[in-house]
Amino acid sequence: MATQSLTLHPSGHKMPLLGFGTWKVPKDTTADVVFKAIEAGYRLLDCACDYGNEVQVGQGIKLAIEKGIVTREELFITSKLWNTYHHKEHVPLAFNRTLSDLGLDYIDLYLIHFPISLKYVPFEQLYPPEWGNMEQDPVPVHETWAAMEDLVRSGKVRDIGVSNFSAILLMDVLSYAKIKPAVLHIEVHPYLNNSDLIKFAQSKGLQITGYSNFGPASYVELGSPVAQNAVPLFKEERLSKIATHHNRTVAQVILRWLVQNKVAVIPKSSDPVRVAQNADIFSFELSAKEMEVINGMNIPLRLNDPAGYANIPIYA
Ligand code: NAD
Repeated sequence: MATQSLTLHPSGHKMPLLGFGTWKVPKDTTADVVFKAIEAGYRLLDCACDYGNEVQVGQGIKLAIEKGIVTREELFITSKLWNTYHHKEHVPLAFNRTLSDLGLDYIDLYLIHFPISLKYVPFEQLYPPEWGNMEQDPVPVHETWAAMEDLVRSGKVRDIGVSNFSAILLMDVLSYAKIKPAVLHIEVHPYLNNSDLIKFAQSKGLQITGYSNFGPASYVELGSPVAQNAVPLFKEERLSKIATHHNRTVAQVILRWLVQNKVAVIPKSSDPVRVAQNADIFSFELSAKEMEVINGMNIPLRLNDPAGYANIPIYA
């Protein structure tokens, strides 16, 4: 499988355009799902403390390396700092827990998961802490960012970045960062193309990873009314027409649209047929007209908004 990559700045490291999402993969199947994803050709794994399955992701990685399917250097592992660890003294603590859970000695990309700082929850009390008791404990982003930069200096992280940040917060980080964020990780799918934010971030040298590429699909199972009321992207007429034209699935068309826009994708599935299908996106091309049709599907419909589930309106 010919996977392509994006070059990260300032490090010059390559980040695969195709990755595998691990949110909501149940612990008891994660090691196997991750092993099979690597076997199917995925080289980037998108992980997080908050997903509660980093130990099992690490087991899948270990098995794939032991069986000679990949080397550590061929993999690109992303993880994320959770909201309860934004104080400078908690950043290395949380990072080292992730590193040891994954069983690795370095991580390729570490992101601030949300621009939200919640009260610290000690590991022995609850791990992962999820949204904890939702008590906010504001920490300026510059404090957290400086601690993230120290992780790069320690040699345990290759690149750092941010997730769920707006343009204004990016401007803030860029104003003081000694090591600039390499990646912006945000929700991107045809119903929320985030084109202005993507253009802005790319103009500042950041690469983009889009998450929840299939829009409502991931949120229907969480009982989100917004997702339940939306037309599923897999049944959307314009996408179906383009998919039929290329003899591909709608999922492949969505992922292809993203990578053609230089947005890295991280689809999640535990079904081996879909896992293989989602990886096969580099052997066809959408026309400029088809790209325009999909660019024009923006509603915008945001599905992952902490205003809804944590009463913290970061996008207000
Ligand atoms: P997704 O968009 O990858 O969709 C997953 C859903 O689509 C599942 O229900 C799956 O069964 C279905 N699906 C997958 N492939 C399919 C196919 N080919 N045909 C039909 N259905 C298919 O959802 P996601 O998990 O929300 O996003 C992907 C990853 O992004 C996550 O696993 C996680 O790693 C990351 N993420 C990050 C954040 C963040 O805040 N940084 C938030 C959400 C997700």
